[in-house]
Amino acid sequence: MTTDRRTLLGAGLCMTAAFASRAGLAAMPAQAQGCEWPAASGELRHYACDWIPAAAALGGNVEDRAAASRDFGNIVQKQPRAVVKPASAADISAVLRAAGKSEQKVAARGQGHSTYGRALAEDGVVIEMNSLDTIHEIGADRIVVDAGATWARVLDATLAKGLTPPVLTNYLGLSVGGTIAVGGIGGSTSRHGMQTDNVLALDVVTGSGEQLTCSRQSNPDLFDAVRAGLSQCGLITRATLKLVSAPKRVRRYQVFYPDLASLATVQRRALQDDRFDQLQGAILPDGKSGWRYQLEGALFYDAASPPDDNAVFAALSANRETSVTTDLSFHDDALAFAKLEALLRSKGLWSSPHPWLFSFLPNVNAEEVTEEILGHLSAEEIGPLGRVTFYPLRHVSGTPLVRWPNGGVAFCVNVVHIQPFPDAPSVKQALAKNRLLYDRIRRAGGVQYPVSALPMTPQDWEQHFGPAWSMLSEARRRYDPLGLLTPGYNLFGS
Ligand SMILES: Cc1cc2nc3c(=O)[nH]c(=O)nc-3n(C[C@H](O)[C@H](O)[C@H](O)COP(=O)(O)OP(=O)(O)OC[C@H]3O[C@@H](n4cnc5c(N)ncnc54)[C@H](O)[C@@H]3O)c2cc1C
Repeated sequence: MTTDRRTLLGAGLCMTAAFASRAGLAAMPAQAQGCEWPAASGELRHYACDWIPAAAALGGNVEDRAAASRDFGNIVQKQPRAVVKPASAADISAVLRAAGKSEQKVAARGQGHSTYGRALAEDGVVIEMNSLDTIHEIGADRIVVDAGATWARVLDATLAKGLTPPVLTNYLGLSVGGTIAVGGIGGSTSRHGMQTDNVLALDVVTGSGEQLTCSRQSNPDLFDAVRAGLSQCGLITRATLKLVSAPKRVRRYQVFYPDLASLATVQRRALQDDRFDQLQGAILPDGKSGWRYQLEGALFYDAASPPDDNAVFAALSANRETSVTTDLSFHDDALAFAKLEALLRSKGLWSSPHPWLFSFLPNVNAEEVTEEILGHLSAEEIGPLGRVTFYPLRHVSGTPLVRWPNGGVAFCVNVVHIQPFPDAPSVKQALAKNRLLYDRIRRAGGVQYPVSALPMTPQDWEQHFGPAWSMLSEARRRYDPLGLLTPGYNLFGS
């Protein structure tokens, strides 16, 4: 027996699930089923350690482990010891209890769209949450769904009843648990806050393997520590999410301005007038080494009362000749990002490195700092399909761990590179620039949205969370005393 195998067996952590695909399970002999873990669910059974071939016991499905060693960012690579595909929260509890015995690090993986290794665990255990994606119940104002489901799946199910979550991310291929772990921002955030503000209750398996339900009324400290808590205290297995009536159609206006100051002025006015159901915008490469400044506003409506385009364009002081208007069903509008995804996949750009930087800048100096950021970037560097997102948001979030600059309004400024990156040094250079820009953003009173690609120290995180740091640290001590969970952020050091 190898040392590695002995260590695992000693811990009772047999990693059966690493190779227990549902198809594979069906083919296994009955006498192989058994012993170590609680037989919590019908689908994922547990197998006696001795039965498991050594390679499999060490998470031997090479493909699963390779997939779980990378993320969308394609910058950081960490090889897990095992990959687990749970069939229930009890399976996750069993994994965490066993991991605790040998102090193995554990990370959940939703859809793997992190950009800097936040869902990876070097030599640890990765739990594939997408094996838990059942929709349990849809009521008049809520949905109960497993946290591994994507937002696209949630939307499909709720739209069938004329309902929608109040805040959807721009890209719906993210998992419910993955965005609740970071916040979840979307076009409707100025109206409805972050996705974490629209969570009614969560089922969580804590770092010590305890299965708890939390909400504002029940275990509120855990509820506050898990929402936007970067997965440091527990893994979300099931979420009860608020629903509202879904609009039928969306008319979307893209209007261009000559410079950043004009764009910001009109955006601020539009926000103040509450003119749109969704207000966003971006600075885009113009194809001639310069930039275009774009406002994007969306109005929800029902067929009987379409928006008055003349009034919209007049309010935006828009040049109608260069403006673009689209009109789609709510469903097609919400899924519009999928077209960009298909395009990027076809060009190989979906799998290229993505050293993206996401931030919120204070309203008072948003243009000044963004101009500085643009001064450090060239349109070529961002890539013809890349962008610097730029739009104001009203702070209506009541999630304690969502960080926000002082003041009610902040600008969401995201540097989104979409280009092939010829070699490792060019990625390293982009990361170094992210650090430089992040330091400038902090000095300006801004904060990062913690899905950015840059290395962070525990001191950086303490500064990031500010007054909320002690609450998060205390919850970590209580709910994950061995510090097993989610090493990829380096929040508490190793
Ligand atoms: C193309 C693209 C578009 C994006 N658009 C938006 C957007 O519009 N709005 C926005 O807010 N963000 C956006 N993001 C960022 C995205 O929200 C985060 O990266 C999110 O964490 C990814 O979700 P995921 O399911 O892929 O999570 P993963 O990358 O798999 O995981 C993210 C983190 O959450 C943890 N985690 C995963 N599942 C769980 C769980 N069930 N319980 C506890 N912790 C868990 C992981 O361990 C990891 O630390 C975008 C990212 C990409 C790549």
